[in-house]
Amino acid sequence: MIFELKQKKNKFLEEAYKKSMKELNDFYGINWVRNTPKIFIVNSKEDKCLFRGDGGKNKNADWITGWTPNNDTVFVMNLDKIKTETSHKKGYSKEQYKVLIKHELSHLFYKIMVKNGFYVVWLWEGVAIYTSEQDRFKKKPVKIKYLLNFYDKHMKKYKDKTVSVYFESGFFIKMLVEKFGKEKLLKFLKSLQKVKNKKEFDNLFFKTYKFKLNYKEINKIYLN
Ligand SMILES: [Zn+2]
Repeated sequence: MIFELKQKKNKFLEEAYKKSMKELNDFYGINWVRNTPKIFIVNSKEDKCLFRGDGGKNKNADWITGWTPNNDTVFVMNLDKIKTETSHKKGYSKEQYKVLIKHELSHLFYKIMVKNGFYVVWLWEGVAIYTSEQDRFKKKPVKIKYLLNFYDKHMKKYKDKTVSVYFESGFFIKMLVEKFGKEKLLKFLKSLQKVKNKKEFDNLFFKTYKFKLNYKEINKIYLN
């Protein structure tokens, strides 16, 4: 498939990009200043499907506004098209859009830390949400009760509602950082490189944080 490219000059986007890179370098303790990520702006849901390679079949992906196909590339929907081309019918404010860019860039830093280690959706999204301060736009959950559904998926359907990994994961990571420190989280991410399955993941988590990944133990700390 063939696409046509052109460079986009936009002060707002460039500043958001620069600031995000600086803050993410600081957080992850990485110095990514050469061959920095490229951002591609996508203008329609049709293009999104083509770029994502799902042939337009995945209608459930309407909520997706950004993604990272490899180690140095971010795709985001055009800010002006989010209203019409995604399921976010109210669109994004400029502030939310900046955060979206930082969220997607954060995934790239995460990939550097974890390499090809075990992929856990709640950790992957939670770290991106936390580092991009996306939870500013959300209500803090009273307690954690869905998080552990999201090891390998982003959404879960219940009879009366759909719950996503985005509800709680950022707050959970915030808790880990505030109660146990950033260094422990970064060390945990790096040691995922040798983790191959959920059991090893849960064991490594327990070894690192000294509490088990169940709601009782999580909330003992979360509510404290
Ligand atoms: Zn994400």
